[in-house]
Amino acid sequence: MFKDFITNASLLVTSFFIIGQLFKDYRLRPSSSWKMRAAAGVCFGLQGILLMIYSVRLNESVIVDLRHIPIVVAAMQGGPVSAIVSALIIVAGRIGLFGPSYSSIIPSILILLIGITCGWLAGRKGLSLGLFLLLNTVSMIYVSAAVFLNLGLSDLQHRVASVLTYHWVISTTVGLLSVYAFLSIVRAHESTKKLQESEARYKRLITASPDATLVLSRERIVFINEKGIRLLRAATRKELLGRSIYDFFHPDNRNTAWTHCQDIRHGKAQPELIEQKLVCLDGTEITVELSVSPTVYKGSAALLVTLRDITGRKTTERQLQEALSLLQKLSNLDGLTGIANRRKLDEHLAKAWSDAAANRSPLSIIMFDVDHFKAYNDSHGHLGGDEVLRTIALTANAVLLQKSHFIARYGGEEFACVLSEVGAEEAYEWAEAIRIAVERLALPSNPSGAHPYVTVSLGLASLVPDASAPPEQLIDLADKALYQAKAEGRNRTVCYGSTDEAAG
Ligand code: GH3
Ligand code: MG
Ligand code: MG
Repeated sequence: MFKDFITNASLLVTSFFIIGQLFKDYRLRPSSSWKMRAAAGVCFGLQGILLMIYSVRLNESVIVDLRHIPIVVAAMQGGPVSAIVSALIIVAGRIGLFGPSYSSIIPSILILLIGITCGWLAGRKGLSLGLFLLLNTVSMIYVSAAVFLNLGLSDLQHRVASVLTYHWVISTTVGLLSVYAFLSIVRAHESTKKLQESEARYKRLITASPDATLVLSRERIVFINEKGIRLLRAATRKELLGRSIYDFFHPDNRNTAWTHCQDIRHGKAQPELIEQKLVCLDGTEITVELSVSPTVYKGSAALLVTLRDITGRKTTERQLQEALSLLQKLSNLDGLTGIANRRKLDEHLAKAWSDAAANRSPLSIIMFDVDHFKAYNDSHGHLGGDEVLRTIALTANAVLLQKSHFIARYGGEEFACVLSEVGAEEAYEWAEAIRIAVERLALPSNPSGAHPYVTVSLGLASLVPDASAPPEQLIDLADKALYQAKAEGRNRTVCYGSTDEAAG
């Protein structure tokens, strides 16, 4: 008898495994479609018939087995529909197998009662070991009642008690074990399904992503969306799958990018957007914004990488930068002569002034003006005058360039030179060098003028600046010296506060 129960238990576990496999792709619930619940009921019913065939015969008229357990599980999984269908199948199986007889009436009613009660009790509670214990106990109370009815208590009392003890103990332990095994199978299938669903959702998200996205497993590409295939200039996904991302990092930044990926994988760095140069499959070099974050792919740790091509943006940025610096340059230059303009002079002088004040070093300014330029314009025309201004500016600039001294067009035909760390004496030499260089140009001047060539007059001032005083102070002094140079006959240099002068 004990052996028979064990056979029943093995059958139970095996058949639960098969049912679990059959329904692995459908989540069987009391809320599933009635067709599915009925189908499950049929399966559990057939399981019950199988258990009935291997039932334990106590005497000629009493047969006990574990057939109620499939009904209990059917109730927990599919609710009343599955429970009642499984009970009906078992009843039909019993009648089919043993034929309609008086002795089959009570077991049939018993099974139907178990089906209805378990279905009603289980309702929509779902699978759990606690619920199994409750439903099994209720079913066993029915079974015990039927055994009492069949055997009677009087002369077979001790036998009834031993049979029922066997039945209760085995039904509970075997039932618990098999239901636990069944629960594990169902839950394993459910988590696999959930994993598959979340993976499918994840793949859909990646596919729909507006950015090139790829998944790396041990730094090898295991998934990539269409945008990614296009970005890396591949014709098919196959060309990229299995390749190491390392191959695509530009040699300039290969190691830093690789280290970044490794750090993210080992949790040593936080995901951040980094700019990266890549070399595509066809050798094209592109700049991308790269973001790497940890993820899980097919149950293992992986890296999710998004790439945004910013090559176009970078080119535009560079062109804009070039245009900006050109604009800046132009805004600092005088349109006619190409040397610095008044704006740049103010900026340069302010800086030179504060530097010299801080270093307690001398600063000199030379102001010079073309002599009799009005008359030159009158005789050579305004355009001719422009040409002379250009020539003089370039000549003076070439002189000062030797020591990188600064020259600007101050306005009209007047120029200003700023000489840092240059005292009055040296400044005088520079001024004279300019004057002589212009004179040596031998640009024919106004025929009626005092000098045959175009000349300039220069005034200079030199001091160690006081940071609290304005730099214009120095320009004023140089201007005064220039005025003096004009007054003293032109084509000469006058240093402010000195009587030294040179005349050509
Ligand atoms: P001096 O300085 O020797 O006293 O005599 P000047 O004739 O040069 O005197 P003034 O400074 O009064 O004349 C400046 C002239 O320079 C007036 C103007 O026609 C001319 N000028 C100013 N800016 C320009 C320019 O951009 N191009 C040309 N062609 N002439 C200019
Ligand atoms: Mg002038
Ligand atoms: Mg002049």
